[in-house]
Amino acid sequence: MKRARNFSAGPAILPESVLEIVQKEMLSYRDSGMSVMEMSHRSSLFENIIEEAEQLLRELMGIPEGYKVLFLQGGASLQFAMAPMNLVKTGKVGYINTGSWAKKAISEAKILGVPHIDVLASSEGDGFTHIPEIPAVDEAYDYIHITTNNTIEGTAFQTIPRFVNAPIVADMSSNILSNLYDVNDFGLIYAGAQKNIGPAGLTIVIVKEDLIQTEKTLPSMLDYRTHIKNDSLYNTPPSFAIYVAKLVFEWLKDLGGVTEMVRQNEEKAGLLYRTIEESSIFTSPIAVDSRSITNIPFVTGDKDLDAKFVKEATNAGFLNLKGHRSVGGMRASIYNAFPYEGVKELTEFMKAFEAKEGK
Ligand code: PLP
Repeated sequence: MKRARNFSAGPAILPESVLEIVQKEMLSYRDSGMSVMEMSHRSSLFENIIEEAEQLLRELMGIPEGYKVLFLQGGASLQFAMAPMNLVKTGKVGYINTGSWAKKAISEAKILGVPHIDVLASSEGDGFTHIPEIPAVDEAYDYIHITTNNTIEGTAFQTIPRFVNAPIVADMSSNILSNLYDVNDFGLIYAGAQKNIGPAGLTIVIVKEDLIQTEKTLPSMLDYRTHIKNDSLYNTPPSFAIYVAKLVFEWLKDLGGVTEMVRQNEEKAGLLYRTIEESSIFTSPIAVDSRSITNIPFVTGDKDLDAKFVKEATNAGFLNLKGHRSVGGMRASIYNAFPYEGVKELTEFMKAFEAKEGK
């Protein structure tokens, strides 16, 4: 069975060895006679899975005491609302506007009626082609929100800013576990699972417990306290997705953890960026000092030629290379499970296309 060279921005490819384990255990997980999909989330077998998943994630990311790990649903999009609902105290929050997802996060805070929302820096005026300079902020904010990696635009924070009087809330959906971070730099981290972690339907939240507002009355499912109190088992969790996530965490640990992953990701991204730099038809629209290693856009500057490239690439088995509709051109998403070989094949295809187009 030939696997596709799938450059999807998400859901994205999973490690083959993980899928093989899933397949092997599909009908009977550890002699239980049932799939994890069919198993009670109150069973000791499933409790072991979710506990191990949490332990592994704690180990991989170095999550300290005082931070809770939650396995939730609703995607990163629900966290755009849950973060303000649970963390706003004084009513003053800050956002760094680095792209479409950051804008959506800001928009949810507005819908909730958060009284004072400051956009402290933005690169919107430049089409989000770089991470804006982050000003020093001494004022107190309930939090300042950043998007560590901008999936659509292909930019990433190269260093995490520090704010003296504000914890950072980070949307890490597209680079959790593929960049090295110190969890202590954040008050809250959230990420949809469907890029680096596992199937869609699972959302990871890592939250510093003492930031959570205790004065609030929120619907139970939207209150972090509910999920903390119940170890993410208040209601039926996305059990199968949590099981696959656990397998992905094991795979990553065996590989050498996040440090080794970063090395591999930099190698893959380096090869693709070098090919773009050396090309006479492809260019990167992204400032060198802001480039993502997981989502890499490139353009020819000619819409028809872009479309031709995408069509021919698709026919050759390189899938989902079309850039997001808001940006155009091409985008290769090369998350953790994407193999170096696949990137190499793409760069060879790009070079052949360039030679054929005669430029
Ligand atoms: N934030 C970022 C950075 C994303 O890349 C995405 C999805 O691609 C989202 C948020 C939305 O995630 P979800 O579909 O899990 O709500």
